[in-house]
Amino acid sequence: MGLDLGGKLAVLADAAKYDASCASSGAKGRRATAGGVGSTEGMGICHSYTPDGRCVSLLKLLLTNYCLYDCLYCVNRRSSDVRRARFTPEEVVRLTLDFYRRNYIEGLFLSSGIIRSPDYTMEALARVARTLRVEHDFQGYIHLKTIPHADPALVAEAGRWADRLSINVELPTAASLAALAPEKDLGAIRGAMASIRARIDESRDGSRDGSREGRGPELVQLKRAPKAPPPFAPAGQSTQLIVGATDASDATILDTATTLYAAHRLRRVYYSAFSPIPDASSLLPPVSPPLVREHRLYQADWLVRFYGFDAAELTTPQAPNLDLELDPKTAWALRHRELFPVDVNAAPRELLLRVPGMGVKSVDRLLAARRWRRVRAADLAALRVALRRALPFVVTADGPGGSRVLDAPDLRARLLGRRTQLDLFGGAPLRAAG
Ligand code: SF4
Repeated sequence: MGLDLGGKLAVLADAAKYDASCASSGAKGRRATAGGVGSTEGMGICHSYTPDGRCVSLLKLLLTNYCLYDCLYCVNRRSSDVRRARFTPEEVVRLTLDFYRRNYIEGLFLSSGIIRSPDYTMEALARVARTLRVEHDFQGYIHLKTIPHADPALVAEAGRWADRLSINVELPTAASLAALAPEKDLGAIRGAMASIRARIDESRDGSRDGSREGRGPELVQLKRAPKAPPPFAPAGQSTQLIVGATDASDATILDTATTLYAAHRLRRVYYSAFSPIPDASSLLPPVSPPLVREHRLYQADWLVRFYGFDAAELTTPQAPNLDLELDPKTAWALRHRELFPVDVNAAPRELLLRVPGMGVKSVDRLLAARRWRRVRAADLAALRVALRRALPFVVTADGPGGSRVLDAPDLRARLLGRRTQLDLFGGAPLRAAG
């Protein structure tokens, strides 16, 4: 191969950049012991882990970019003419510890092309995590990519040591997978997700089991019992969907994502805009989709998970793709003007969450504020409501908000800021929040 460790790092860190699923939401240290190598709760390393999946700094690598498979959208596919490299599991362990000790990273994201067989590759990935945990007491975050078609026992081994497991669906339909990644099988991928979910559930049920608390006569016996096994993938599982590699609409992509969330209780679905690759198949588009499409999918995903929207509400049969100019909630509200204006002093939480420009936090602040006083338009700004988007859709204590423009034919243009200023309050300038 002829590459030293630095050379391999250059190749395999670059090759990993196509995977979007690098966030480590909801991660806590694996055990209570602060001070172990890479502990995310000790050693003065500060994080804010949120269930919504903000990234921490991870060393993001492929174990190798050799691959037996020939997924057409992938730069590492068998037929691709790229420079190849391969780490040993021990080299990845060494790099992770090195980077961690220099405070460059808080964890490891490790994926791989498939070498020799799915089982061989999965075993090597699991070995990295096991070595870090067992031999080096590494308590940083570990996200392992699982290999389609690997033996479930090997995936189970990976989940003992990793915080998060993921398996990429990549394409939203079986037909598109058959066309572009014929060696992959959507049924097998979903089967692997189901088995990971079952193990996560089993592990959570076990940790909730009161017998582990050790009460009464059981306490003595439990004190002598062997240490409980580590939780299985405590930060859950995730997947990635590529956007724009096929003609799949946003409606199809969101439908697949919501099905996966429901069936396998995924923590996150990541949407990754397709990037054209060298010597690409003619089946692939020559250009990337607009990046804003990826952004709109994340916004729609958010609305489904936290705002009570059904994915099917966010597109229409006539327009199966999300509006690129307007956020999905505003686009939905424009299609449903008959449901507005909403009285901010009387509407229930679920209706307020549907008002453009109102986030979960601002709605909760509004609900708290209106217990004490009637909410006026000026109060909405203080509650960090995005007035430009919200005012046309609400009624406040001091007037109709901007609802008198609700039926204006140019409301869309106004919301897009294509008029100098929304003159909703007799000429008073608005603060364009959010
Ligand atoms: S299996 Fe993964 S690494 Fe291999 S070609 Fe397909 S997407 Fe690329």
